[in-house]
Amino acid sequence: MKYIIIGAGPGGYELAAMLSRQSHDVTLVERDRLGGTCLNRGCIPTKVMAHAASLARSAAAASDYGIGLTVTGIDFSALRRRRDVIVDTLRQNVGMLLSGVNVVIGDARFVAPMTVEVNGESMTADRIVIATGSSAASLPVPGASEAVSSDGLLSLEALPDSLAIIGGGVIGLEFASIFSALGSRVTVIEYFKEVLPQFDKDMAKRLRMSMTSAGVTFVTGAEVTAIEHGAVRYRAGTKEGVVEASVTAMAVGRRPNLPGGLEVAGVETDRGAITVDPRTMRTSAPGIYAIGDVNGICMLAHAASAQARIVAGEDVVASVVPSVVFTSPEASMAGMTEQQCKEAGIACRTAKVPFRGNGKAVTIGETDGMVKLIAEAETGNILGCQIVGPHAADLIEEVAVAMANGLTAAALTRTIHPHPTLCEAIQAAAMMLK
Ligand SMILES: Cc1cc2nc3c(=O)[nH]c(=O)nc-3n(C[C@H](O)[C@H](O)[C@H](O)COP(=O)(O)OP(=O)(O)OC[C@H]3O[C@@H](n4cnc5c(N)ncnc54)[C@H](O)[C@@H]3O)c2cc1C
Repeated sequence: MKYIIIGAGPGGYELAAMLSRQSHDVTLVERDRLGGTCLNRGCIPTKVMAHAASLARSAAAASDYGIGLTVTGIDFSALRRRRDVIVDTLRQNVGMLLSGVNVVIGDARFVAPMTVEVNGESMTADRIVIATGSSAASLPVPGASEAVSSDGLLSLEALPDSLAIIGGGVIGLEFASIFSALGSRVTVIEYFKEVLPQFDKDMAKRLRMSMTSAGVTFVTGAEVTAIEHGAVRYRAGTKEGVVEASVTAMAVGRRPNLPGGLEVAGVETDRGAITVDPRTMRTSAPGIYAIGDVNGICMLAHAASAQARIVAGEDVVASVVPSVVFTSPEASMAGMTEQQCKEAGIACRTAKVPFRGNGKAVTIGETDGMVKLIAEAETGNILGCQIVGPHAADLIEEVAVAMANGLTAAALTRTIHPHPTLCEAIQAAAMMLK
C-alpha cells in the first residue's frame, strides 16, 4: 500500500520505519529536520541539560561522601556543544532507521481529498497520516513578544543571571529545575493555586516544596497582565506584583500544527486539534489518519509513537500513558489521580510511602518525595500512581505495566522486589492496599 506521512517527529518517523519494514511504499515529508520537536527542540535537548544540572547537584553533594571536588563554574557553550553532538548523533540514527523510506524535505498541504502538494509537486497515496506535531503557545498579554518560548530557552547563548518562567506545568518546571541548578535565579509564575494541575495537589505541593528548598521561587495564583522591559507584571487576588528577570520565558502549553488545506481534504478539527477516533487514529476523512500532538489526545513523545504503532496495526494498550516531569526530584504519574476518582464517583483507597524510609534512597542521599498508589476500594485494582522522588521517571513503568494488565495491588506485592532498590517503595505502598 502507498502511504504519505506528514511530519518526521516520533509519531511520523516511527510509523514510516514500521510501515517500510512491512514492505509498504512510504513517503515521509518533513519541512524542517528529522526527529521533530522531541529530538530537536524538546525531550532530548532538555534531558541533556537536565543531566548537566544533575551533575552539578551531584558535584555539590560529593563532599558528603568524602569526595573532594572543586567546581570552577558552568561552561554554557560547552554544554550547548555537548547537547548539539547528542542531538546530531540521534538524528543520524533516525536517518538510518528511515533507509527504506522516501524522505522529502518540504512543507506539505492538502490540495484535494487524498492529494498533498510539496515543493510545487502533487502527491497521492492510499493512506495519508498527519503527524505534524505542535508549537509553543503564548499568552495574549501586552509585551508577550518579549518572552522567549522553550525553543528560545534552548537557543540562549549564555546562562541568564535571572529567569522568569510564566507557567508551572511540566515544561516550565523542567526548565526551572535545570537553570536553577546551573546557577540562574529562577522565578516561576503560575496562574493556578498549585503547579502541575494534572497531579493531585498533595504531590504537586511536595515537588514545589522540594524545588523551593533548592532555590526556585514560586508565585502561584497569579495572572500575568503584562511584560514590560524584562518586568513581568501580575495580579494575585487583589494584589499586584512584578518579577524582574534578565530573561522571561513562556511555558503556557502547546498548539497543534495544522497543515494547510484540511478543509479541502475533509479533515475536521475541534478546538484547534484534528479530531480522531482514539482506537484507530482515523480522522473524519476516509484514508486520512492523525497521530501525535496534532490530535491533542496526549502531547507526549511516547504517546505519538504508541499511536503510530496503532496505525501500523500493532496491539497497544493506549489507555495507560505514563507521564514524567524531569525536575529534581523527578515526578511521574500513570492512570487516575485521587481527585479524578472522587469526581468520577469511584471509591478508592490510597497509600503513601515516603522515600525517607527506603534504604536505597537513604544511601544515595535522595530522600525527598514519596510514592502515592491508588487502588479501587472494592476490587483492589490499581487505578493510578504518582511518584515524586529519585528516578521517578523509571519507577512509574512498573505500575504502568501492572495497570495495563489489570493487576491488583495484591498482585504487585506477590512479585519479589530486589533490595535495596527504590521500587521497594512501590511494593510497600501496594502492601498497604492489599
Ligand atoms: C521543551 C520540551 C520538552 C519536552 N520533553 C518531553 C519529554 O521529556 N518526554 C515526552 O514524552 N515529551 C516531551 N515533549 C513533548 C514531545 O516533544 C512531543 O509530544 C512530541 O515531539 C510529539 O511528536 P509528534 O510526532 O506528534 O510531533 P513533532 O515532534 O512536533 O514533529 C512534527 C514534525 O512535523 C513537521 N511539520 C509540521 N507541519 C508540517 C508540514 N505542513 N509539512 C511538513 N512537515 C511538517 C515539523 O517540522 C516537525 O518536525 C517535550 C516538548 C518540549 C517542547
